[in-house]
Amino acid sequence: MPNCTFCGHLLEKGTGKMFVYISGQIDYFCSMKCEKNLLKLKRKPLFTRWTEKYRQEHRKKKEEATKK
Ligand SMILES: [Zn+2]
Repeated sequence: MPNCTFCGHLLEKGTGKMFVYISGQIDYFCSMKCEKNLLKLKRKPLFTRWTEKYRQEHRKKKEEATKK
């Protein structure tokens, strides 16, 4: 099963939404929260604190900061 495009959570069978753009690009959403944040509020996962992408990115930065 695919992961949510915005927050990165795994979609379970029978849940979530597949959003297909006219261009053919496909996005998956686990919740209305993720859908609105991406499509309506136009937020970016890398700059939204509660997403998996943000956590990964900032985990790296934290580790690099502690090494030095
Ligand atoms: Zn999500």
